[in-house]
Amino acid sequence: MKASVARIDDVTVEVQNGETILQAAKRVGIEIPTLCYSEGLAPEGGCRVCIVETNRSPRPSAACHTLLQPGMEIRTKSPKIESLRRDILALYLESDGGSGFRRDHRDSYFTALLERYGLSAALAVPGSREAPVDTSHVYLRFSPHLCINCRRCLNACEQIQGQFVYGMAGRGPLTHLIFGSDGQFADSACVACGACIDQCPTAAISDRDRQAAAKAESVTQSVCGYCGVGCRVEIAVAGNQVLRIKGVANAAVNRGHLCVKGRYAHAYHHSKERLTRPLMRVGDDLKPISWDDALEFAARRLVEIRDQHGPDALGVLTSSRSTNEACYLLQKLFRSIIGTNNVDCCARVCHSSSALALQITTGTGAASASYADIDCARCIVLAGANPTEAHPVVGARIKQAALRGARLLVIDPRRIELADYADVFLQVRPGTNVALFNALAKVLIEDKLIDASYVAERTDGFEDLRSYLSRLSLHETARVTGVTVELIQKAARLLGGHSPALFVNGLGLSELTQGTASVKTFCNLGMLTGSIGRPGAGMLPLRGQNNVQGSADMGSMPRFVTGYQSMHDPDVRERLRQNWGDFPPQRPGLTVPEMIDAAARNEIRALWIQGEDIVQSDPHQAHVIEALSNLDFLVVQELFLSETTPYADLVLPAASVLEQEGTFTNGERRIQLVRPAVRPPGEARPDWVVIRDLARILGASWNYETPAEVMDEIAKVAPALFGGVSYERLAGDGLQWPCPDRSHPGTASVHASGFICGKGRLTVVDYVPSPEQVSESLPYILVTGRVLEHYNAGTMTRRTPQQQLVSEDLLEIHPDDAAREGISEGETVELKSRWGRATAKVHVSTRPAPRTLFLPFHFPETHTNCLTGPHVDPDSKCPEYKVTAVRVRVLRPAAS
Ligand code: SF4
Repeated sequence: MKASVARIDDVTVEVQNGETILQAAKRVGIEIPTLCYSEGLAPEGGCRVCIVETNRSPRPSAACHTLLQPGMEIRTKSPKIESLRRDILALYLESDGGSGFRRDHRDSYFTALLERYGLSAALAVPGSREAPVDTSHVYLRFSPHLCINCRRCLNACEQIQGQFVYGMAGRGPLTHLIFGSDGQFADSACVACGACIDQCPTAAISDRDRQAAAKAESVTQSVCGYCGVGCRVEIAVAGNQVLRIKGVANAAVNRGHLCVKGRYAHAYHHSKERLTRPLMRVGDDLKPISWDDALEFAARRLVEIRDQHGPDALGVLTSSRSTNEACYLLQKLFRSIIGTNNVDCCARVCHSSSALALQITTGTGAASASYADIDCARCIVLAGANPTEAHPVVGARIKQAALRGARLLVIDPRRIELADYADVFLQVRPGTNVALFNALAKVLIEDKLIDASYVAERTDGFEDLRSYLSRLSLHETARVTGVTVELIQKAARLLGGHSPALFVNGLGLSELTQGTASVKTFCNLGMLTGSIGRPGAGMLPLRGQNNVQGSADMGSMPRFVTGYQSMHDPDVRERLRQNWGDFPPQRPGLTVPEMIDAAARNEIRALWIQGEDIVQSDPHQAHVIEALSNLDFLVVQELFLSETTPYADLVLPAASVLEQEGTFTNGERRIQLVRPAVRPPGEARPDWVVIRDLARILGASWNYETPAEVMDEIAKVAPALFGGVSYERLAGDGLQWPCPDRSHPGTASVHASGFICGKGRLTVVDYVPSPEQVSESLPYILVTGRVLEHYNAGTMTRRTPQQQLVSEDLLEIHPDDAAREGISEGETVELKSRWGRATAKVHVSTRPAPRTLFLPFHFPETHTNCLTGPHVDPDSKCPEYKVTAVRVRVLRPAAS
């Protein structure tokens, strides 16, 4: 035998560094049975089912954690080994874990293994009583009589989700699995990601709907319809109802993992409240009409209003919940048929500041890095994002990176969960990020912690920045931000000592009047540390909605057409003429807040809103309602009646993500296929079909039969980003843009060989305080955001059992503030800002800093966005959701 090879059974195997016998056997197609082992998790080595004979030991070795070595001769299925395996499995059957519960194994990986070794699960009835099954959790159940203490659930919980729900209690034969301090599932720290269920070989831990799921008639691969992580899913269906959703095991984005929303929050699709027919306003009521009448009516009103008031009296909001193809067609219709650039999407009110700042500083307004960079990052800087709740699969990945030793720097006004895993946590005052990032940059430069050659070779503007920062006072920064000089220095030195770093941000940086400025100064840190375009490093803004990246990519922006192209570029215009049959208008359009303002002034007379509930989700609710009430014509494409539909003249029933074909683009620029798993209810239709049919009524010869044909046109219209994209190439993990031609593999890391804009731009930005300042009468700053269990306006999640997990928005208030105001846990308070009022129950928590409050906006009855005001970032026009001065007052029934 050659020095570098071993032999497994009759197969000669090249020895690879660090590879176990189990991994090597799998590589050459030899199957070794396992029980406690799971690919992707550290070997447990407890069950001994994977034992093999080797010429290196007189005793059998566990293949899962024995390294393959040169010269080894291994026998995986000798009679002795097979007999031992049988005895081991029989012991598992005979043991009852000290519980005295009757075992009743059926229909699992474990029973298949038993059968293979001639053991019948029916033999295993040593116990004497029925086990009490823990059904306390909304989604999971635990059947202790099926548990064999293999610890796969425990390892999955720790090594995938990082939640540490499980433990083992008792000794010897009395050893058993516990949740937290031995309570019930529902009382544990479980976040219902379901990783333990996927791992459990006996179904001791299972979905509560497992029996129904076993009867699935079809399984469809698609993409989760909630956040911008874009997890790939497998949807099991029977009788046109989703039974169960699982993660796709080998998916690049999520590797089988999901969060509670992606896995369980699907019941909305068969809610009785779904819209099933087009509705037209008749007086105060919405009355059902046919699709033909609805589209004829829509076409007639759009043309009438255009002819009477001009094309710029109309506007459209495409949906970040809908597909790329629907967004592309809707902006194309309004540009090429109506003749206006009043085209925008909800990216305006969330990530437009990030996109603009990245565009200015690097040349492309999207992430430079990929989620895979999290796994190999030396240092992660997380600012203004709470990913374990808002982007849970990415949040878990960041937590795992920190547990493995990556340095983690968390910057947030709230002590978010990941702050507990951080090396340094900077609890910054809301809206003061620019001051903090400037101070970090100053320390990096003055302590000579920057990547000098990267800065010299790849960036512009260093001398101006250095000179500006030299005049900055760290003590003044500490006063403004609430972060001490010592912590600023500690954070900068940690970053400088462990760069290049991965810079992850969320809406806490962008939804500010200094949103663009915040992200620009964040990018300064990325460039000073030589991080952008490097492996395990770069800029990674987390995208809120499932297709917020795609809706902007498709041209849902008033100043750019598809692929962020200038509408004034002659080459772009000629391509559009060839594919659209006409040139788009060149007059710049309006952003979402500008369209709302224009509607309030009677300048916008008609709006088309695709899949957005702007009355609930946009700021300054009273102003939004005033604007919508002014319109001559409002069309809403929706799944349900919403807070916005009372102002609509026409409501069109939409197909959900589970019911349509198309593509979504996630936060790492990955375009993935969305496939229908169930039929839409009643007459609900996919958005792209509705827009195509409307265009035909308006006289266009749009002959698309499938969304794939729409994607082919997108590839022609914006070849630099999408020229190589087609449905055939999107199977599996899709493609990350830029993907300019059919042989291009897609781009995981942008700017790797130089910035798209030539040189990265370091920028000098002054800190400018938010116009929302506290006063004697408004002494608190309110920050709004999301919780794990719900999603945005809650339209979908409120119609699922998520409602049992969280049934209302709670105001978080620091104990010091609660004591000062005389407020106790669970009491209802009234919040007042300069713009409106809201009420909510209180949760007293040390997560927010004193004088800072936090309130989600998932439930319409809370009216969170009655409180937020009209301020926007002057460059991106992104509203300021994250800083609102308020007062809080407890509401108690008057004493009789
Ligand atoms: Fe869906 Fe986001 Fe959860 Fe993934 S992390 S399952 S994309 S909601």
